[in-house]
Amino acid sequence: MRGEGCWIWDADGKRYLDFTTGIAVTNLGHGHPAIINAIEEQAKSVIHVSNLFHIEPQVELAEILVKNSFADKVFFCNSGAEANEGAIKLARRWGDANGGRYKIVSALGSFHGRTLGALSATGHKKYQKGFKPLVPGFKFVPYGKIEPLKKAINDEKVCAVILEPIQAENGVIIPPDDYLPKVRELCTEKNVLLILDEIQVGLGRTGRLFAYEHYRIEPDIMTLAKALGGGIPCGAVLARDEVAIYLTPGSHGSTLGGNPLAMHSGCAVLRTILDDGLLDNAARMGEYFLHKLTALEEDYSELIKEVRGKGLILGIEIRNKDKAKEVSGKCLEKGFLVILTQETVIRILPPLIAKQDEIDFAIEKFDESFREIS
Ligand SMILES: *Cc1c(COP(=O)(O)O)cnc(C)c1O
Repeated sequence: MRGEGCWIWDADGKRYLDFTTGIAVTNLGHGHPAIINAIEEQAKSVIHVSNLFHIEPQVELAEILVKNSFADKVFFCNSGAEANEGAIKLARRWGDANGGRYKIVSALGSFHGRTLGALSATGHKKYQKGFKPLVPGFKFVPYGKIEPLKKAINDEKVCAVILEPIQAENGVIIPPDDYLPKVRELCTEKNVLLILDEIQVGLGRTGRLFAYEHYRIEPDIMTLAKALGGGIPCGAVLARDEVAIYLTPGSHGSTLGGNPLAMHSGCAVLRTILDDGLLDNAARMGEYFLHKLTALEEDYSELIKEVRGKGLILGIEIRNKDKAKEVSGKCLEKGFLVILTQETVIRILPPLIAKQDEIDFAIEKFDESFREIS
């Protein structure tokens, strides 16, 4: 197996266009020299020292994140689930000190990870089956609708709302444009924290560094992971000072979180996204891709229910789940990797470095697959 840019070769030497990016992890593609150099350099210097010591690349990565976001403070951990655990604990601490509040409102269809706290915040029965009892204090409302949220938040025990700016695992569900601004307004009015889970759609995926930027709002807490470490496990909880102060030294922690290797790699990821124009590329290529997919939607309307996307997270909803499985199977045969999500949605997550000819290759393979299936 080997990879280079948008391409990956299997054990038999067959080449594939990889538009899965290891589920939104390898945002710079495979074998990016900036990441290789960072990992190599750090491995030769020091891989781990623990948070008993000041870690230079940790401060550097925190500074880049703070400078380019709403946040003042960053806590580093090792995965998305762990980042959401940290966000939930921070919200509970804040709620405890602000009127003894502990309830968290989440959305139906959401995905926040598989540890018990994150799983309890996840609005999908299939992930929770057989693991009860879960952590109490979570309630769920339909995603993208403001009235049910208004009702749910009108509860003096609610301390936070947790949402994904786009529900990725749920089939690339993009809410109406006024949804997040209205949620922000409601949270501010009720003095409730807004936690945005940008683990999948953050770090340039939507054409902005963070998806919330599209809506001219800011969360109180944000979680990141997946692409953050450039393939080295890494997660982060970001918050404004007024909220972050509640996690006092010793109240939360992680042995490997913020280790030099992941941090140095993370710095390379962020610098490359910001300095190499990858946000602009993701926005432009995303627009191009969606435009091409919309043309396919018209040609194969009996097969395709809808195409949707924002930047380089795109979805093709197929009318029938057997056909959807056939489409992803055909693509694989033709040397093109995509992810089948929620049985009927082909989820496409190209690396942020993708170019027009690679998107044209993807469109050609989709076109052939749809033609053969129709
Ligand atoms: C992947 C994902 C998680 C969980 O991340 P892990 O690193 O697998 O624990 C949480 N939230 C969202 C939105 C995700 O896409």
